[in-house]
Amino acid sequence: MKRLFAVFAMCVLVLCGCAKNGDVNLDKVSKNLNTYTMNLIYNDDHTLNGSQTLRYTNNSDTNLKTICFHLYPKAFTKGAVNKPVSSTNETKAYPNGPSYGDIDIISASINGERTEFNLSGLDNNILTVGLLEELEPCDKVTISLEYKVYVPNINHRFGYGDNAVNMANFYPVVAVIEDGEFVLDPYNSNGDPFYSECSNYDVTLTIPTSYKVASTGVQTNSTTLEDNTTYTINAKAVRDFAFVMSEKFEVASEQVEDTTVLYYYYDDEDYKSNLQAGVDALNTFNRLFGKYPYSTLSVVKTNFVHGGMEYPNMVYISDVVEGADYTNVIIHEIAHQWWYGVVGSNAFRFPWLDEGLTEYSCVLFYQENPDYNVDPVELVKNTNNSFVTFVDLYTDVLGKVDTSMNRSLDEYNTEPEYVYMTYVKGMLLFDNIAEVVGRDKLISTLKTYYAENMFTNVTPEILVSALEKVTGRELVSYINTWLEGKCVIVTMD
Ligand SMILES: [Zn+2]
Repeated sequence: MKRLFAVFAMCVLVLCGCAKNGDVNLDKVSKNLNTYTMNLIYNDDHTLNGSQTLRYTNNSDTNLKTICFHLYPKAFTKGAVNKPVSSTNETKAYPNGPSYGDIDIISASINGERTEFNLSGLDNNILTVGLLEELEPCDKVTISLEYKVYVPNINHRFGYGDNAVNMANFYPVVAVIEDGEFVLDPYNSNGDPFYSECSNYDVTLTIPTSYKVASTGVQTNSTTLEDNTTYTINAKAVRDFAFVMSEKFEVASEQVEDTTVLYYYYDDEDYKSNLQAGVDALNTFNRLFGKYPYSTLSVVKTNFVHGGMEYPNMVYISDVVEGADYTNVIIHEIAHQWWYGVVGSNAFRFPWLDEGLTEYSCVLFYQENPDYNVDPVELVKNTNNSFVTFVDLYTDVLGKVDTSMNRSLDEYNTEPEYVYMTYVKGMLLFDNIAEVVGRDKLISTLKTYYAENMFTNVTPEILVSALEKVTGRELVSYINTWLEGKCVIVTMD
């Protein structure tokens, strides 16, 4: 995600996510992945009827008796403990006052046979489906779910606003298994509280014909019957599926090698340069990190409370952001296609890992694209000094400030503290690594890290060990001083 934040009164806005493409054959990759088959019908009253079948393989080394899913819409219910926005953003997020959403699970079946299910977690946000018999490692099972989704009136990842309907994190998504246990971290208004495995999606989506739709994957067919249009959408080896609909969308596109970059927008006289920013970001990151493996990348203007949000093959750009900040959000969210999309991580547990690297990727973008008139040296300096100001002011007010970065989303004391330790200090950490090991070595590490970890989930240790391998140096203790909040960051002149 991209947070836009002001540094108290004195600072400006500081920057604060055939299928053969390149060397990667997505058909081949997709063979080993779980597949969601979904039939989704979006109704005029902002509800969605969903029917979904997940073909699931037990890739853990434990026998499974149940399968757990995240029900993210539960964060949007009335009285939810883990709310989607912090109190400071509530007014901005809800354009017409409080509004609530939900997901009702209607039925669950295993291999076609009805089975028991239950909801647990603070906000009933975890769905557990009982298996009829234990699922052994490497065995497969088909879990079918029927559900109804109630979409709230909120400018968020999931919600409808005046200009568009954002449909992300709306369906039951199977939890990742680690050490034999499902990882069931709850929602959090800080950051992107999501963690999932790459999967395939075969989606049939029916929506009112008046809407145009941007989505993850490739729209292969559409049929219009009276007032509704049904789209067939396929996505291979992506870690989530999302779509955005608007009656106002206009669409511009450009081909970059094997990828079509699409820009869905409204009220945008600069649409050509915004499409170009998407094209330039894709070209730059293809060259620096390794090739984007998908055939579409949609940049989507929408009503969204924060700056932007990343989903596979698709990024949200908030319609309240303007000028150079808008361009910066496009670049940031596209960088997430590498750091979140293709190389995934647990964004609840290690939010600095993808956000820090994504913010630093923007620095690299400006180094490579001087036409954007953003001096990368100034950018790092301003980011550094904004961090120092934050720490000084918070220390004055609170007596001390925790500058550790190795915290989960729910371990940050305040939203600004989260933003400064993950995005701001995250960028500074990667810039410092570039200084310590050399920019070329950092970039060649990122190339290796990308190539070796495509379509998987990584941990910080994997990145540090990739750095150590390329540089031949011991770097754990140096990087830990940053993560543990022990390094001192001083004002830069
Ligand atoms: Zn981000």
